[in-house]
Amino acid sequence: MRAFELYDATTVSEAVTLLKQNSDRAVKVVGGGSDLVGGILKDWVHGKGLPFPDVLIDLTTIKDLTQINAGSSEASIGAAATLSEVIDHKDIQAKFPLLVAAAQSVASPLIRNFGTLGGNVNQRPRCWFFRGEDFNCYKKGGDFCYAVTGDNRYHAIIGGELCYIVHPSDTATALLALNAKAKISGVGGDREVAFDSYFIGPREDVLRENVLKKDEFVTYITIPNPASGTKMAWNKLKDRQVYDFALTSVAVSFTMNGNNWNDGRVVVGGVSPVPYRAKVVEDALKGKDIKATAKQAAAQIRTVARPMSLNAYKVDLAAGLIERTILDALGN
Ligand SMILES: Cc1cc2nc3c(=O)[nH]c(=O)nc-3n(C[C@H](O)[C@H](O)[C@H](O)COP(=O)(O)OP(=O)(O)OC[C@H]3O[C@@H](n4cnc5c(N)ncnc54)[C@H](O)[C@@H]3O)c2cc1C
Ligand code: SF4
Repeated sequence: MRAFELYDATTVSEAVTLLKQNSDRAVKVVGGGSDLVGGILKDWVHGKGLPFPDVLIDLTTIKDLTQINAGSSEASIGAAATLSEVIDHKDIQAKFPLLVAAAQSVASPLIRNFGTLGGNVNQRPRCWFFRGEDFNCYKKGGDFCYAVTGDNRYHAIIGGELCYIVHPSDTATALLALNAKAKISGVGGDREVAFDSYFIGPREDVLRENVLKKDEFVTYITIPNPASGTKMAWNKLKDRQVYDFALTSVAVSFTMNGNNWNDGRVVVGGVSPVPYRAKVVEDALKGKDIKATAKQAAAQIRTVARPMSLNAYKVDLAAGLIERTILDALGN
């Protein structure tokens, strides 16, 4: 393990000041540290896109950022709330069972007890070349993607270009389906970004996975209360029964007009460098009888999939899981 300086911030403004004071060094905020400390720093992988931090600013010591509040129009979850705290919160269970199911599917109870929502959404990708010290790929600042000619069985089938990671976060997939927003603080001030535009693909910047600047961090995640009668469901397929990242996951949230699709979102995880909003599927369902259309609508995912040499199986998984998740939301 490489040494680093650790600061226990107690307020958001103190964390921002620390970011400013350390702007000429490799500085990162940290939640539970299950990825940054237990993974990246321990494994000694690094590069331009994965610098070793000299300075860590702990966000879990900022009490405000551990709070969860369910208000009359939206819920606000502090970025330093642990996944277990999100799962156990009665109002979140009642209003957003989709988020609870997704958070419950993350890793193991131990990791959920100290891994934070902010850390889960902002964790770095799991591509085995990226995490391997011998591979200086595009995402680490190199000039090659080893997944193109190497073992790409877990890589992207949609939206890969230059780099073919899949976004690793289960909660990000659910939060996009719930139309969440990220509240962000940083040296340049505060801003709010909808999850629709929070994640960025390799074409925009191969070294990053989201819009955060080096001196910014997420303070809260807000989720609008769902309209009454909203249907939700979550499913995740893994390689093993024990904890694992998604081969494919699906989050759906929608309202109905009688038996027909009114409005909603279908988001697929494990298939693309960003949590993937499957608008082709949503469009095929618009105004239609959901039960009668689910299979044909889910198959639309095939029209946007561009699998690699070893991962065409994921296209079948995604089509099947989208159909199953829509039907699960209906209670069928
Ligand atoms: C064995 C194992 C299995 C796992 N399985 C799954 C799984 O099935 N599904 C899944 O989704 N995840 C999985 N994970 C990932 C795990 O959930 C994450 O490591 C954890 O949620 C990250 O939370 P953390 O608070 O520990 O993050 P940290 O390690 O503290 O931070 C992770 C990254 O996010 C950044 N960060 C943290 N907080 C913020 C913030 N507020 N704003 C901006 N950036 C921030 C950090 O700088 C760092 O780069 C697994 C991890 C392990 C070790
Ligand atoms: S998929 Fe991305 S992270 Fe993996 S080897 Fe290719 S460039 Fe690197």
